[in-house]
Amino acid sequence: MYHALLYYAFLPIEDPEAFANEHRALCQSLGLKGRILISVEGINGTVSGPVDACNAYVLAVHADPRFAEMPIKTDVVPGHVFQKLFVRVKKELVTFRADLPSDPTKVTGQHLSAAEWKDRIERGDAIILDGRTDYEFDIGHFRGAIRPDVESFREFPTWIREHLGDKRNTPILTYCTGGIRCEKLTSYMIADGFTDVYQLDGGIVTYGKDENVKGALWDGLCYVFDERIAVAINHTEDRRVVGRCIHCDAPTERYINCANLLCNKQHIACEACEKQFEHTCSVACMDVIHDTAALATP
Ligand SMILES: [Zn+2]
Ligand SMILES: [Zn+2]
Repeated sequence: MYHALLYYAFLPIEDPEAFANEHRALCQSLGLKGRILISVEGINGTVSGPVDACNAYVLAVHADPRFAEMPIKTDVVPGHVFQKLFVRVKKELVTFRADLPSDPTKVTGQHLSAAEWKDRIERGDAIILDGRTDYEFDIGHFRGAIRPDVESFREFPTWIREHLGDKRNTPILTYCTGGIRCEKLTSYMIADGFTDVYQLDGGIVTYGKDENVKGALWDGLCYVFDERIAVAINHTEDRRVVGRCIHCDAPTERYINCANLLCNKQHIACEACEKQFEHTCSVACMDVIHDTAALATP
């Protein structure tokens, strides 16, 4: 059996290069694969490996007093969900084009547990803001959430000002995959004058594991950044498919990559259209594939 782990912590790391080298050696010795980002502001990682190796990793990470309290989310997976191991030093854990100073180690939106979050949604007086990007939203999201039309997280500051600028006194609920983006997002929103900001503690992934709420009010699947592409969150009877085939608009939850390698766009496609469009996202991409095939056969 294998596990996939997901975690983050915002805390000062003095020598990120040295720490990254040590950490890479630890992961290599345990045979873990995945992606770990390290910066002066903290750590954000997701790795997979055999259960014993993952357990040893969690022990080693928690043995460091700086990370003793860091929550690590665990999923059971059939095998590695990453091809390789990357341990990288970055300037910021989450790239965010903030035009105001904000510090998630000091000020963030109030964390809500799964039960508190569900209650808060059901009260119906808050704006539910998806803190992810459009393609993540399209395969699944909280019922009633706003879809920000941003292709990358760094576009959020501008988007917020344009679309929520007159809502600074309305309760805002933000959520993201594992919680890290909301730390940045809510910290920024408070700096920008929002007065009543909440974030889902541990993100969608933790919400889906809560035994009482069982992922209620989540529709569709949750996009994840590994080979699984998307995972189930809502384990209640009341679950809706929200993904729509890019070609025919039929409800479906299949995410595939465009077979035109120059495009490679990840898109939602039903089985029939995938076949008809030869695994591509558009007629244009299908033409490219045909042209390439024609060139290859003299
Ligand atoms: Zn279709
Ligand atoms: Zn394409």
